[in-house]
Amino acid sequence: MVYNKIVVVGAGIVGINTALELQRVYPNIKITIIADKFNSETLSDGAAGIFRPGTYCFGPSFEISQEWINDSYNFYKSFLNNEPCGINEISGYMFSETLNDTTKNHYLEKCLPEYRKATEDELKLYSHNNRIKKCGSFFTTITIESKLFLPWALKKFINNGGEIIKKKIQSFDDICEKFNVIFNCSGLEAANLCNDNDMIPIRGQVIRVKAPWIDKFYYNDMDTYIIPSKEDGTVVLGGCRDFGNYDTTIQNRVTEQIIENCTNLIPSLKEAFNSEYKIWVGLRPYRYRIRVEAEHFKNAMIIHNYGHGGYGVTLAPGTAKYAVKLLCYLHSNL
Ligand SMILES: Cc1cc2nc3c(=O)[nH]c(=O)nc-3n(C[C@H](O)[C@H](O)[C@H](O)COP(=O)(O)OP(=O)(O)OC[C@H]3O[C@@H](n4cnc5c(N)ncnc54)[C@H](O)[C@@H]3O)c2cc1C
Repeated sequence: MVYNKIVVVGAGIVGINTALELQRVYPNIKITIIADKFNSETLSDGAAGIFRPGTYCFGPSFEISQEWINDSYNFYKSFLNNEPCGINEISGYMFSETLNDTTKNHYLEKCLPEYRKATEDELKLYSHNNRIKKCGSFFTTITIESKLFLPWALKKFINNGGEIIKKKIQSFDDICEKFNVIFNCSGLEAANLCNDNDMIPIRGQVIRVKAPWIDKFYYNDMDTYIIPSKEDGTVVLGGCRDFGNYDTTIQNRVTEQIIENCTNLIPSLKEAFNSEYKIWVGLRPYRYRIRVEAEHFKNAMIIHNYGHGGYGVTLAPGTAKYAVKLLCYLHSNL
């Protein structure tokens, strides 16, 4: 079997990165993307887009998780100050008001050029209204604005000779005769396509305000975060993490909690609520281990790449590289 009829199911951040990596490795093979949602219709479009993975093991091992992170960082970094695709460098703080130092991140400490403890003066500076910051970290990372990155990447894919088909597949049976390699980057929908009961949503809600004076990101306990865009002066305020909750309507009680947490952390944000703001809800496609593995399906091979939870923007280029390596491995063993 020559595995050369290749389709990517999904055009979110994971699908688009996988498709670009396929074109890089196989420049002479025409790659197709099939998806029912593109660009602003995808979940990926709404993400704040900060490069910051969680600290638990989400790959097959800690070493492979670190490899995904390093590969992703190097990929995104190569576009910094280079191409207008929504990638910018940004510094900021992660604080905690508890004594357990939850602000450390062993993955980022090994990857980013700067990751250090916040000084006593910095902790004092951000301790307002009896909310004492007991520990903190300062680091420099990048933000990836999906709103700019996705259309830019899709255009690059088409210019490289890629084909796009806008449609929903009901099952892999729909496409396994035309294609003999299927990269499954379907996000939360993988729960249905693969009958994967390990896929669950983690509901998130954020507020996007105009606050061009905020030039750093900030994190605090209770999933509080403030992430500015260097592109348009807006700031994403979050958040919440509701496991297993499929509700995509706006919850007012969550909005109030986000406003309270974020304005406690950075009081000048109160001013941003004098102008119009937008509220957005998204379901993170969570799996206890991100699934990047190959599986035989009838006459085709499916290479799964889904379940990135709250870190899909961060990890997509790394898992894309790993997924495409699985195909290279198959080719080398023919
Ligand atoms: C509030 C919030 C904030 C976030 N902030 C960050 C952040 O700062 N940093 C970070 O790294 N991550 C963040 N995330 C997580 C990130 O958004 C996700 O991990 C990421 O978007 C998942 O990408 P995906 O490509 O797997 O899924 P999606 O973007 O959902 O894409 C899935 C694609 O598959 C297609 N598809 C699915 N089923 C079918 C089918 N049957 N037929 C055809 N096409 C199909 C869809 O049309 C779509 O194109 C955040 C998430 C939320 C909710």
